Amino acid sequence: MTVPESINRIIQILLYMLGAYMAALYVGLVVWTARDIASRSRDWLARILAVLLVAVFNIPGLLLYIVLRPRETLAAVYGRALEEEALLRDIEEQTACPSCHRRVAQDFMVCPYCRTSLKSRCPSCERLLSPGWEVCPYCGRDQARATRPAKARVATATAQTSPPDEATTPTA
Ligand SMILES: [Zn+2]
Ligand SMILES: [Zn+2]
Repeated sequence: MTVPESINRIIQILLYMLGAYMAALYVGLVVWTARDIASRSRDWLARILAVLLVAVFNIPGLLLYIVLRPRETLAAVYGRALEEEALLRDIEEQTACPSCHRRVAQDFMVCPYCRTSLKSRCPSCERLLSPGWEVCPYCGRDQARATRPAKARVATATAQTSPPDEATTPTA
């Protein structure tokens, strides 16, 4: 009668091992669910419900959770938002030429298609400025004041050069 007893013991050990395996599996599933839902949802109620679902119903609960869980992880959502933002910025940076309405980059000085002047350079800090700006946003130089005397100087220069005999008479 020693053989059935040893078989009994082997069965007992196997049952213990199975029990330990099941317990480890159970804990593993619950921990995995807790981590998975934490990467997909910031909502504490959703997190608690997901963990409870798997803790109570185990493998059927896990299957139900996999069906019902948010499709995207928070990291994927964040990455997509960044991508969309970068795309939007690209579109914004690609402005159109006011004359021929073709696409030009933000830092073009002249339209490469129709030669329209798109930007001017600040005489003080040498950065590119839009033609409509009154003041340089980088160094604060007044663009209207900076350009007007230049025009006036050109006008006086032409006035001086156009009547040659008037300019020569005082010296003569
Ligand atoms: Zn153009
Ligand atoms: Zn400037």
